[in-house]
Amino acid sequence: MKLPDLYITSEYADIPPELYSDATGKPFSSCLLCKCDLLTPGTLYIIEKAVKNYKDFNTTDTIFEYAMCFACVEKFRGKISDTSRARIDIYFAERVDLVQRRERLIAAEEFDPKEWLSHCIIKGKRAHEFSEYQLYCQCDGTQLIFAYMPFMIGGEAMDEMMQLLSNETLGEIGGFMNEYFGVPPELEINPLDRPVLIF
Ligand SMILES: [Zn+2]
Repeated sequence: MKLPDLYITSEYADIPPELYSDATGKPFSSCLLCKCDLLTPGTLYIIEKAVKNYKDFNTTDTIFEYAMCFACVEKFRGKISDTSRARIDIYFAERVDLVQRRERLIAAEEFDPKEWLSHCIIKGKRAHEFSEYQLYCQCDGTQLIFAYMPFMIGGEAMDEMMQLLSNETLGEIGGFMNEYFGVPPELEINPLDRPVLIF
């Protein structure tokens, strides 16, 4: 998405435990792809967590999670076809104004990541209403940055977005998932069910 550049001065907070790595119980410390150290101040990266929500049991599981440095995010985005990118941009533009959303939250001095993550930015529903949802945030070293992220996207909007992706892009995402999340061949992930960062 083409959004105005941000100059973050004081809009940051400690990374909340919900965005720690489930695998280690600690903040993510290295990039999934290039393994660079993420906790050095000045290192920009993104965290994505896909969460399965068991509504009846009031509990959640992490489906997959990773942190990725900006350089690798750019490389990954380069694999998304122009057609897919254009369709996702339109999907967002028609449903959410991320610039205005950020301005509203910053003006209200809302610096609790939980509030930024509380509702699906597309559908407006709360996390507990979904059987799956994804959390996204942007960080700099040990700090979470209140940029256009953090935000949450529920399974419903994720499904709609996946329908917009070209076969070529779905193939790229499927390959990525299978390579990095160690899925046994018999359970080969259907990328339609497990979307990853496509913004
Ligand atoms: Zn990297």
